Amino acid sequence: MWMPQGPRSPRVALVALIAGVLAGCVTLTPEQQETLDDVRRFADATAAAYNVPRIRVNVEPGTNLGIGGRYRQGNFYVNVGMIHSRNLNSLVAHELAHYVLGHDVPVAGASMAQFQLAQELRELDANAKAVEILMRVKGMSEKDAVGTVVAHLRGAQRAVERGGPIAPGHRTPTAEIADLLARYPGNTLD
Ligand SMILES: [Zn+2]
Repeated sequence: MWMPQGPRSPRVALVALIAGVLAGCVTLTPEQQETLDDVRRFADATAAAYNVPRIRVNVEPGTNLGIGGRYRQGNFYVNVGMIHSRNLNSLVAHELAHYVLGHDVPVAGASMAQFQLAQELRELDANAKAVEILMRVKGMSEKDAVGTVVAHLRGAQRAVERGGPIAPGHRTPTAEIADLLARYPGNTLD
């Protein structure tokens, strides 16, 4: 849920913001709202291209867990801090990839190690599928699509190197880049 932000007193705006955060909602500026509408169109176009039901796109307050977005049970949640990120297309394509790949079903694993491995493989699959989605739905060339996902992962790697956490279920971004480039060989990156 989100609320359109119109002209109102700072006090009313503040109360609305606090109420929104408490209720798990985020107040968006008109600019952010426009970007969110683009994300919704991207999600709808992807659902149409893959012949799967549409999913809801929600905004949620930022976390410091190294997660820019998540997909869960027919809902895509994007952190408010990602709305104006250069990596928004990559993030959205990655979460839509989880959806298209049916990753809602819990991974199977007899041991914690097997469970972790299965999670990591899903993330690698989602990165690769995100490239396909960017090509198929956004009309990008393979080189641009791979470059878009790699740029996102490089940014994540820099955050990890600054002491940030590795997102749960993921390998290091550097390892994810290596896997992606192995799946799309022949892409020379700048
Ligand atoms: Zn993921």
